[in-house]
Amino acid sequence: MTEHSTVAPHLVGGVASGWNALTAIGAVQVEKTEGPYIHDARGRRLLDFIMGWGSCFLGHNPLALREALTDALQSGFLHQYETEAHARLAEEFCAAVPCAERLRLANSGLESTMYAIRVARAVTGRRLVVKFEGHFHGLGDQLMWNVDSSPSPAAMGPDGLLERSPGTPGLPDEVGELVLPLPWNAPAAVDRVFAERGEDIAAVILEPVCLNIGCVSPDPGMLERLREVTTQYGALLIFDEVLTGFRAALGGAQEQYGVVPDLATYGKAFGCGVPIAGIAGKAQYMDAIAPVGDVQISGTNTGRQMSVVGALAALRELKQPGFYQHITALNDRLVTGIAEVMDRHGVPAYTGGFGGRVGVHIGSTERPRTMAEVARLYNKPYATRLFELLSEKYELYGFLLPLGYCPEPVTVSAAHTLEHVDEALGRLDDALRDLPYREAEG
Ligand code: PLP
Repeated sequence: MTEHSTVAPHLVGGVASGWNALTAIGAVQVEKTEGPYIHDARGRRLLDFIMGWGSCFLGHNPLALREALTDALQSGFLHQYETEAHARLAEEFCAAVPCAERLRLANSGLESTMYAIRVARAVTGRRLVVKFEGHFHGLGDQLMWNVDSSPSPAAMGPDGLLERSPGTPGLPDEVGELVLPLPWNAPAAVDRVFAERGEDIAAVILEPVCLNIGCVSPDPGMLERLREVTTQYGALLIFDEVLTGFRAALGGAQEQYGVVPDLATYGKAFGCGVPIAGIAGKAQYMDAIAPVGDVQISGTNTGRQMSVVGALAALRELKQPGFYQHITALNDRLVTGIAEVMDRHGVPAYTGGFGGRVGVHIGSTERPRTMAEVARLYNKPYATRLFELLSEKYELYGFLLPLGYCPEPVTVSAAHTLEHVDEALGRLDDALRDLPYREAEG
């Protein structure tokens, strides 16, 4: 336990949310945040590259949200009844997202993926869900399988499925039996599982670009194959766009790749920091939800005025001319800049980005395609030492953060500028001079 993670000894492990205790450095106590910066209790101003795990897409403390929330204070900001803002938010959301004919709100990404699975089971009358190794869909029991199969990679069983591995203690095996785990980017494995069990498969759920294992894009044709096979067998295709949603384009990864799922789930950049999430999709499926159909999706805290007004203001900021050009410019500068700096110092790395979330796979220049490849190629011991240096000496927050077996993407917001990116690249250059790759290799 580090000095920083004991700042609140009555919180378990000193943190409100487990993820805040970062690998190697623990948690920081924050005094205030502004734009791309965190000001911590040690008096440091850290340039933030986690940005609320991708949620603070407009930066910290953005003016547009502050103004909207101030207005909401005048109209009963804590109530959860429908207002004009609810109608506008749903309308503008559905105009932006290709699969969205209807929207139902929720509070977290976990809830949205859990509910999407429920809708799929209800409309198909089937039980099983195909998911991919390394794809993360929140900490719910049903989908917390084969998230991290390192350090001993999951073997492929005779039935063509990966051996199931729970992502946390506390998951009964019986729950896992409803999940069919497959390697990512392996269309033959998908074909086989549908050929053998297609009649009982309710849905395929995936991160269309897998940002939870760094940034692993789908091989050409992979999303199209999933679209075809689910349609052929009458299963629902669910894109978990909690991370990809609104990041590279208003319509998310489905717009970027031109593949439209049946349902999609949202969180993070949907609210740009306000607590809100959603499930969207085609009316024929969404109308299974009560009060139109019978599927129960509700919650005491769902659709609070504060969150809805905030999300609407956020969405309107994302629609401003030039917004995505700025994000693309930041993304591209990070991808090429990090690759150049790594190369200059002889550090083998593969760098790929989506919507200002850039995965830096230190250890090899090979593009990883599956979770097992990500884990095999990643030089975590070196990446961890580099991360400590970047955090402590160079005052970058979360830049090149290592997770269990893979990198967390370097994440920017609209409040970052090319100058901020260049500043970080300069500090990375200095850090790599301090820590030559060959001396520190795993
Ligand atoms: N889906 C994806 C792709 C995620 O990355 C996450 C969280 O990181 C979730 C779902 C869960 O979202 P939440 O943390 O809001 O429950």
